[in-house]
Amino acid sequence: MGALDEGCFEVDVGNDVKLGIMSVCEDLDDGEEVLEEDGGIAVIEDAVKVLLQGLGEDVNREGLKKTPLRVAKALCDGTRGYKQKVKDIVDGALFPEAGVDSRIGHAGGAGGLVVVRGLDLFSYCESCLLPFKVRCHVGYIPSGQRVVGLSKLSRVSDVFARRLQNPHRLANEISAALYNSIRPAGVAVFLQCWHIQFPEEEDGHAQVFSSEEMHGWKEVPVRAGSGVFEDEKSNVWTDFSALLKFKGVNIEKAQVKQPVYQSWCIAGSKELCNGHGAKNGFNSRNATKPGGTNQSAMTSAAISILHALGEDPSRAGLAGTPHRFIQWLTNFKRSSLELKPSLFGNPNSGWQSHNGNGKIKNLGNGYMSNLCSELNLPFWSQCEHHLLPFQGVVHIGYIADEEQVVVERSSMQSLVHFYGYHLQVQERLTRQIAESVYSVFSRGVIVVVEANHICMISRGIEKVGSSTATIAVLGHLASDSEAKAKFLQTVSKRSASGS
Ligand SMILES: [Zn+2]
Ligand SMILES: [Zn+2]
Repeated sequence: MGALDEGCFEVDVGNDVKLGIMSVCEDLDDGEEVLEEDGGIAVIEDAVKVLLQGLGEDVNREGLKKTPLRVAKALCDGTRGYKQKVKDIVDGALFPEAGVDSRIGHAGGAGGLVVVRGLDLFSYCESCLLPFKVRCHVGYIPSGQRVVGLSKLSRVSDVFARRLQNPHRLANEISAALYNSIRPAGVAVFLQCWHIQFPEEEDGHAQVFSSEEMHGWKEVPVRAGSGVFEDEKSNVWTDFSALLKFKGVNIEKAQVKQPVYQSWCIAGSKELCNGHGAKNGFNSRNATKPGGTNQSAMTSAAISILHALGEDPSRAGLAGTPHRFIQWLTNFKRSSLELKPSLFGNPNSGWQSHNGNGKIKNLGNGYMSNLCSELNLPFWSQCEHHLLPFQGVVHIGYIADEEQVVVERSSMQSLVHFYGYHLQVQERLTRQIAESVYSVFSRGVIVVVEANHICMISRGIEKVGSSTATIAVLGHLASDSEAKAKFLQTVSKRSASGS
């Protein structure tokens, strides 16, 4: 994946600090489609303040001032489907079309399937309250000499996506709603859903951002059918499948039955709740025990959010959701500030020699021969503007003195986790890591951060699979474009090979 071709440009902010500036997570006032008469916004705003305070944050600090309102608007907009009626959308959009009939294979070839492919939507996971990406493909077989305006298929799908959902429920609801409102011979729905993957650690290293196409996302393909599509083995599915295959979409692997809960939202699995992965920081700073004052105030706040959205917090799909949501947020608790890895403060105590794998070889003469690199260090963070995660990898390059030992990967990883587990913005994360490494390797440091921002999908900015890159360069490397280029080339090769 061309990680570095994202149009990043640099701005010199003095102090030899060069920051890559781009609209990573813009402070847009994304309020165009705010709910009309809604008192829900104020309720959610207050609840978000409680959540931030529970995280030990100052709700009046600059970066957070507008966060409660932003979160409230985003949630209300993202779940506005509760207030929309399918009937209002479809009524008036049914057109007579003689010759269209429900009997497939009928002489004259009437009754053909109509498919709309690749609608990009997003929804909110009912299990953890994080948005997930949806690519929706809908087909129907007209009946009663009636066709529907094609845009309505997408509008109706969106009504159900804009709710708290899981993939199966979403597919079933879209299928049933279209079937009941258009009354065709049948409706087929195929959804590709991507949920952000939570960190899973193996041998102390988080194994996210693998070589799969969708780094850091778990894809769950599901399908649902009504009418003639109800029978999953019916051969009407063959046409639907073939028309999607033209677009490279394969419905064969779709799950028809409800899967094991954990396989979709990993936030619901035991790992997250038990503090699995504590070694590298995930969940290890969860100082507040469940039942503590903070925790219960935060849980009540989360429940009031569900109410304000028009949901019933006691329905089965939402059982445990407030708890999981709080559990997730607590990973980014401010108290973790005190746990800064001490390795960087005292190079003699913690630095261990490295086998040299990280060194970029053959860079020519002089200090360049000591340009070391540590690539693909996974990180997790939480966007402080939208209270939504961003995750990805960090690449670090630094110039070591002849007598300086190279730092171990695990130390770099701890540093990355340390700065990641905060309410953050990607630019700041990049700079903080760079400055921290620079405090030890003052000859030169370059840091590149590549990330997926959930806040960007829920605002429709991000396409499935896109990512954002930031860069910070300190010391000699700032003025040495050749060395910098060499490092970036290494990163780009590494990203492309997916290792
Ligand atoms: Zn954001
Ligand atoms: Zn989830």
